[in-house]
Amino acid sequence: TTALDVTIQAQILELMGEMKERYNMSVILITHDLGVISSLCTRVIVMYGGLIMEEGTVDDIFYRTGHPYSAGLLASIPKRSREKLVPIMGTPPDLLNPPVGCPFAARCSHAMKLCREYRPELTQVGPGHKSACWLHNKSVKIHRKEVWPV
Ligand code: SF4
Repeated sequence: TTALDVTIQAQILELMGEMKERYNMSVILITHDLGVISSLCTRVIVMYGGLIMEEGTVDDIFYRTGHPYSAGLLASIPKRSREKLVPIMGTPPDLLNPPVGCPFAARCSHAMKLCREYRPELTQVGPGHKSACWLHNKSVKIHRKEVWPV
């Protein structure tokens, strides 16, 4: 729906919602539009560099954010017209030569040496809520005295 004006976008999303109900089916939306996600989705998978960074309900992702990349996406939403945007600095990884550690490490303000050397696994951070970040690892938390919000 990226190239559509807001009225056509709303009509298409409404039609998809009607078809979902009529045929009792599931719909997978692939989008960067956080407004569409918050109004239409139940479960969200946040991907970066071809990998799952976080998975959970819409409330998990928006209100109990478990991954620095998801937090960066949420922070980059324009709030008021005159407010300065908060971008995620840097560029995505080269997937022809993917990084060995966390794919978000080059752009993450929390990145540690560990992140660049080892890829974090997707781990449970709440009921039905998973995140792939070393900040959730108990020994990392103790060492850094840092607890990620979840
Ligand atoms: S694993 Fe490290 S680099 Fe990756 S998101 Fe977590 S803190 Fe940032």
